[in-house]
Amino acid sequence: MTKSEELFVRACKVIPGGVNSPVRAFGSVGQTPRMIASAHGAYMTDEDGNRYLDFVGSWGPMILGHDEPEVREAVIRACADGLSFGAATKREVEMAELICGSIPNVDMVRMVNSGTEAVMSAIRAARGYTGRDKIVKFMGCYHGHSDALLVQAGSGVMTAGIPDSAGVPQGCTKDTLSAIYNDLASVERLFEEFPDEIAAVIVEPVGANMGVVPPYSGKTGDGCARADSLDRAAAEDFAEPVSPGSNENGNTLETERPGFLEGLRSLCTKYGAVLIFDEVITGFRLGFTGAQGYFGVDADLVTYGKIIGAGMPVGAYGGKREIMERVAPVGPVYQAGTLSGNPVAMAAGLAQLTILKEHPEIYDELNKKGQWFYGSLKQIAEETKAAVQVNSCGSLGCMFFTPEPVVDYASAKTSDTAQYAEYFRHMLSNHIYIAPSQFEAMFLSVAHTREELADVLELVRKFLNKESFMQ
Ligand SMILES: *Cc1c(COP(=O)(O)O)cnc(C)c1O
Repeated sequence: MTKSEELFVRACKVIPGGVNSPVRAFGSVGQTPRMIASAHGAYMTDEDGNRYLDFVGSWGPMILGHDEPEVREAVIRACADGLSFGAATKREVEMAELICGSIPNVDMVRMVNSGTEAVMSAIRAARGYTGRDKIVKFMGCYHGHSDALLVQAGSGVMTAGIPDSAGVPQGCTKDTLSAIYNDLASVERLFEEFPDEIAAVIVEPVGANMGVVPPYSGKTGDGCARADSLDRAAAEDFAEPVSPGSNENGNTLETERPGFLEGLRSLCTKYGAVLIFDEVITGFRLGFTGAQGYFGVDADLVTYGKIIGAGMPVGAYGGKREIMERVAPVGPVYQAGTLSGNPVAMAAGLAQLTILKEHPEIYDELNKKGQWFYGSLKQIAEETKAAVQVNSCGSLGCMFFTPEPVVDYASAKTSDTAQYAEYFRHMLSNHIYIAPSQFEAMFLSVAHTREELADVLELVRKFLNKESFMQ
């Protein structure tokens, strides 16, 4: 037995499934988890000394690579001052100023300890602000594991084949309405049925928990590649950066079809509902201003997690002043946290966000890298005639094992997960660590080099060249 296997046997006796979050389980890919001992740059090393090129990046936070020196030093300095005070601190003020000073529509922000908490609190604020109960979410979008949002929630739930979680009373989800991602008509129907009852529409601006499913955009050249809308010439021209949110002329011409996010914006405005962008993955990843800036669509509330904590347990929700002023202690919407705004966590997040803010070229390079890498993957898929789809948006992307374009939850589910499992094992045996589930993204970081990515592309080509993947 390897050390990872030994540890996993011990883990299974004392931790459900041996893991502290289901997405870390390797069950759906027929493996047992590698126990990770350390990580630096683009690589992770397990307890047996195996080194892997990492495409999970702690599920997003490690946009600068693992063990970034400035982040590490900031954490060490903060530790020397004490781990927690349960009192207000300067770093929290600096963090809030950094966010509110840069992010459109975020006038005020509240720090919490996870993405789940951020979303749960944002929903409460939206309900408190509107005095309405119902919320609209999209099938296949994941917004953390709070009761009201565990309805067709993608990601870990999807991998485990659980439509909705056990242990969630019906009463908790009776006000949660499900709509179809990329289908504005499905949202419009809900608004027509409940014109005065919907408090909020919550969306992952780029679906990243059912695999990667970008929104139909009202603008061309947004740097997102949908399986069915990617123009071949653009794919072949992947080395050319495309400026986000604008067409070649730098205009923002609307196509005839309204963009999905733009459409949600107008429906929310029309019916007086709060539009919540769950930017736990897209925030500070598509660009410093997240999906709002990338697609040029305004949200009323935004939730953050992952990158904002640089690997520490952090989340945040923020938005329009009139909504955020409903939150306690100024307003009647109660929300609290003993360790919220923890000084060590703030130090880590502040260090990472400061680097990202001061170096906007990081995003140009990262998105260009994504366009080249996923564009090349798509080309390889075409050359090998494999029945796969490559979806991507900036540094996020994934490959679906289906001949159908993937634009929503139903089409994502057509992917052959047994083939994904085989693909996963091929990659892992070649020391490439990708998500142990079809329904997750690949996360590119600053630390991945072109040479490393080129090697990965060849490994994928080798895999897709096998006969079983011919159409
Ligand atoms: C990860 C994630 C969450 C939950 O964040 P946790 O920190 O795991 O609680 C919420 N929304 C989205 C879009 C996520 O990807």
